[in-house]
Amino acid sequence: MSSNETQIYCIQPEGIRPRRVGIEISSHFQVPQFLIVGLPSTEIGEAKERVRSAILNSALPFPNRRVIVNLSPAFMHKSGTGMDLGIALGVLLKHSLESIPFQRILAWGELSLGGKLQSAPHTLHAIYHSFLSPDIDCIVIPNKSNIPDAFLNHLIEKFPERASQLSVIKAKDLESAMEALTHLKLQTRFIKKEAPLTQSHDDSQLSLPSQGLTRILGATLAGEHHLMMLGPKGVGKSHSIEILSKLFEPSHIDTQVDRFLTNDLFTDRRTDLSPVRFVGVQVKPQALHGSFRGTKFQPGECSLAHGGLLIADEFPEWNRDSKECLRHPLERGSISINRVNGIFDAPAQFQLIASGNLCPCGGSPWENPPSCICKLPEKERYRKHLSGPILDRIDFFVLVSQSKSSGTEKVSVLKQRITETRARLLSQSETLPSHWSGDQIENEIKSKLSHSTQELLKSFASIRSEHKVIRTAHTLSAWDGVRAPTLDHFKESAKLRPEQWI
Ligand SMILES: [Zn+2]
Repeated sequence: MSSNETQIYCIQPEGIRPRRVGIEISSHFQVPQFLIVGLPSTEIGEAKERVRSAILNSALPFPNRRVIVNLSPAFMHKSGTGMDLGIALGVLLKHSLESIPFQRILAWGELSLGGKLQSAPHTLHAIYHSFLSPDIDCIVIPNKSNIPDAFLNHLIEKFPERASQLSVIKAKDLESAMEALTHLKLQTRFIKKEAPLTQSHDDSQLSLPSQGLTRILGATLAGEHHLMMLGPKGVGKSHSIEILSKLFEPSHIDTQVDRFLTNDLFTDRRTDLSPVRFVGVQVKPQALHGSFRGTKFQPGECSLAHGGLLIADEFPEWNRDSKECLRHPLERGSISINRVNGIFDAPAQFQLIASGNLCPCGGSPWENPPSCICKLPEKERYRKHLSGPILDRIDFFVLVSQSKSSGTEKVSVLKQRITETRARLLSQSETLPSHWSGDQIENEIKSKLSHSTQELLKSFASIRSEHKVIRTAHTLSAWDGVRAPTLDHFKESAKLRPEQWI
């Protein structure tokens, strides 16, 4: 019997936060039998055959005993073929006389009958868990694992100490994994890779809307604000959305790591899903929230837009339930789903970019002569759709009208200005103004405002609106390259509140 006390672990993805599963092995001189207990799914039940066959075909000894594998904690349902490797290593190490230089090993990979290691779904979750857990000293994964460089770079940047401590074994089969563990071969570390210079200079030209609207679009992206654009058909709302999606670039490490983990839940789509999500008027609450298929979480559009943009087309005409769905993520940056065994949270911190017509016919009731053909009750009904608590969450509320283009500009120049604006904001405060808390504004920001600005802010009925004006004025001033917002910036921000129009 083995004298080493090495513990083997694997993971159970639960949403995007994996949970640790311990693999305990018990072995007795009884009638030979191989059992896996601890609420295993069908695929883990079948792991018995893969593991036994892989061990024998790798010319390694399979114990002629009664072997019981317990996946703990026993109350939690387990699923996923990635547990194969951990179970096989657990069985082999239990009966090995070799000492292992590791205390706690996380193993994740699927075994073929011949003993080859194949990448299993959720490998990124396993790597993430090994970075988060200081007690894990080694991770074993298949050498053919598809790990995006950007994901590892983000993790190494976030947890540099863990990256230097954690041993990594990338093995092609079970035999080489065992050899690496017992003979200290193939061990390496996760190393940061230089990002390819793909997004260097995008010299393509963008045709810009009016100067005022271009400014709001830039400030929206730089300051991570929520935006709503209303206007009659054909005035360029779609073009503005196209500009936003071309200029958007993800920025935060945390949200980028979460994005990779969310995308890794889609076992059938290995490519990175875009952080710019387009959602139409027909969207159902479930498609926004996400849902469970058995124990597997299927992220909804809100989670897929995490760290990105959720572009809500024809937003005023969305049904009430779908609109309501956005309240929680806009307030808290996450989605909560009630399940039998408790509340489940998924990340959903996105920028809402909503657009819509001014009235049901898509005309303009304010033009002279008006181009609107709607009857008064229809207009009233539409107006009601526009109001509601969601509007409170919008930072910039813009009425778009037919106006002259302000010319063209290179994508790279605009992106540079957005980056500079963001850097200017972050040089003055730890977080962007859009993420300032109410307390922070009341205690630290408000007292610094001029008397006339404070008088202007008094015209708002709600504190929430007042705070929004303060936040957006700071972003607009940074866009202009000014250190602190002037009264004009506050006046401009005040005009961009929905209560001025609705
Ligand atoms: Zn109309």
